[in-house]
Amino acid sequence: MIRFRRPHRARAALAALLALLLAACAESPAPAPPPAGEHGARKHGDHPAAYGTARGETEGRAHGNGGTPASKGVAGGGGKAPRGARVRAGLAPVWHHGVRRAAGGKRVALTFDADMMADQHDRADAGERFDNPGLIAALRELKVPATVFMTGTWAARYPGQARAVGRDPLFEVANHSYSHHAFAVPCYGLPEVAPGTMRAEVERTFAALRRAGVPEPVPYFRFPGGCYDDAALRALAPTGVTAVQWDVSSGDAFATDPHAVAEEVLTRVRPGSVVVLHVTRSAAPVTEQAVREIVPELRRRGYGFARVSELMAAG
Ligand SMILES: [Zn+2]
Repeated sequence: MIRFRRPHRARAALAALLALLLAACAESPAPAPPPAGEHGARKHGDHPAAYGTARGETEGRAHGNGGTPASKGVAGGGGKAPRGARVRAGLAPVWHHGVRRAAGGKRVALTFDADMMADQHDRADAGERFDNPGLIAALRELKVPATVFMTGTWAARYPGQARAVGRDPLFEVANHSYSHHAFAVPCYGLPEVAPGTMRAEVERTFAALRRAGVPEPVPYFRFPGGCYDDAALRALAPTGVTAVQWDVSSGDAFATDPHAVAEEVLTRVRPGSVVVLHVTRSAAPVTEQAVREIVPELRRRGYGFARVSELMAAG
């Protein structure tokens, strides 16, 4: 019995850990109230998680690998904040969604986070799949432009897929940190980024994306778990990125029912919405099926699909 119990316990512990990590990526829409004085002039009250933990972050140049983000000439590049972004002096701009107007066509951006933590290579070696080629194929088949927020760890693990996505004009690839650690805590149990390494996390990821063969990553950054504070925004300002949040959380992490995921998106989406989904089979196994429901239904409702850069450019 004991023989059986132990693996069971190990599996249970693994499942619990996985749930914890994915909850972090589930990017729950439940907002945490910002600390007094930090986000006093919030423009968007509906964004997911902006935990306030004042940290004396001091950024070093530990890696110095020259990760100046390339720009495809889109809004947000070259230090110019995109329209609609929340801009404050000395802080990276934050953008949540596009304009809500329907005139000229209703558009929505589907975004896909490619999550993987540096210490998950062992699990990948053991057969766990953090990629989702079927989902990427479905997006191509359905001709849906999309933005992929890729961790550096994922790009290093799946360089062929990173390159293929990065070279496909249907997609744009942005930055989701190297190790998928939290830039502000608490953040769904994610481990905290080591002190002084926030900027390096971003630059190291741009370098990893290029090394994998993504020629022109776009200068957008998605905080793991959507968790950030002013210290994080200050640390990232020199990199020139715009932090991209979202207004529709699909709930695809650990979902088992694709219809429920599709329903969640279809219920919440509005013109200009940014939807967060995942391109990680082990943690978001029904996303492809959900997308196959979401896309035709949104088209039936008159929506078109746009990459984040296009929504930004539209205002
Ligand atoms: Zn994530």
